[in-house]
Amino acid sequence: MATKVTFSASRVGSCTRVLSAGLLGYAPTPTPPEQLRYIQAAKDSSRWESLVKEDLRDLGYKFDIGGYCPACGRDGIHVQLEYPLFTLIGHLDGQMTGEGWGGPLEIKALNSNGWSKYLSKGLDGFPEYRDQYTAYWAARKDPRKGLYAVKSKNTSELDIKEMTAPPGNIDAIIERLTYTAAMVRAGKLALGEESDKCWFCRFKYLCAKDDSNTTADTSRVPKLDSTEMVKAASMWREAANLESRAERLHNEARDTFLSAGLSRFEVDSLDISIETRTRISYPIEELRKWVPEDALGKAKRVREYREVRAIERKAQNGNS
Ligand code: SF4
Ligand SMILES: [Zn+2]
Repeated sequence: MATKVTFSASRVGSCTRVLSAGLLGYAPTPTPPEQLRYIQAAKDSSRWESLVKEDLRDLGYKFDIGGYCPACGRDGIHVQLEYPLFTLIGHLDGQMTGEGWGGPLEIKALNSNGWSKYLSKGLDGFPEYRDQYTAYWAARKDPRKGLYAVKSKNTSELDIKEMTAPPGNIDAIIERLTYTAAMVRAGKLALGEESDKCWFCRFKYLCAKDDSNTTADTSRVPKLDSTEMVKAASMWREAANLESRAERLHNEARDTFLSAGLSRFEVDSLDISIETRTRISYPIEELRKWVPEDALGKAKRVREYREVRAIERKAQNGNS
């Protein structure tokens, strides 16, 4: 069985072509001199992190910071998520403790341009940070509330966000990484994704971007072939066949029983009773005519669920 690839949580928001190039052993081009200062700035991050931790403690926030992770040779709280084609590893700057908390603590320090962008766009202006924190959130058992602290390197201002939900979509992240891992497994580079990081991309010499509508483009859909997955596909097909056969049989038997013209009878040890019942429903379109929207809102219950759809590939392609 092919081995899984490992992605670092701090890089999950990176371009999929860059991620696959690194895993396939392609070398990045040397860093141009004008970009060296960015690398130096990144190296300063642990100093800023310590300062922000002090600020947060002074403000009364409580958190654990873990320690040295010997497996990875770095500081932080090691978190790991396993998926069929890849492992996702990250190191939290801290984990919030205390009543009602439990989520990850993440600290960043930004230069003046980054700081202005963060104030205007928040984490949406930094997809890599957003996806990193989303992965950290998914790795916590009961996150409830976490903390995102950003410091301005120029003014020392501190922006603290108490997070009650992940800022990004973990399903979309898993989909991108599964696609990348499947391409790497096949020995191919994944298609790239245009972003504001392209200007200093060191794999530009390999670039090929995905300009297609990804929902319509099935070439990006990874193909899983483990015994467990193939067995699930066969169970799904069997269930679909049974469901449609069950519905057909029920309808046919029901019509035959109704045709007897009796309200109760026994047939082949089945006790059949037929009653006329009333089903009451309140169609939302009708309710809207009579009930104000804010009153409807009070009765609203939202339940999140994960829909799984499976469409026969041949039928979808029109080849059947
Ligand atoms: S230049 Fe190409 S490979 Fe590099 S980040 Fe942009 S899309 Fe990805
Ligand atoms: Zn580790």
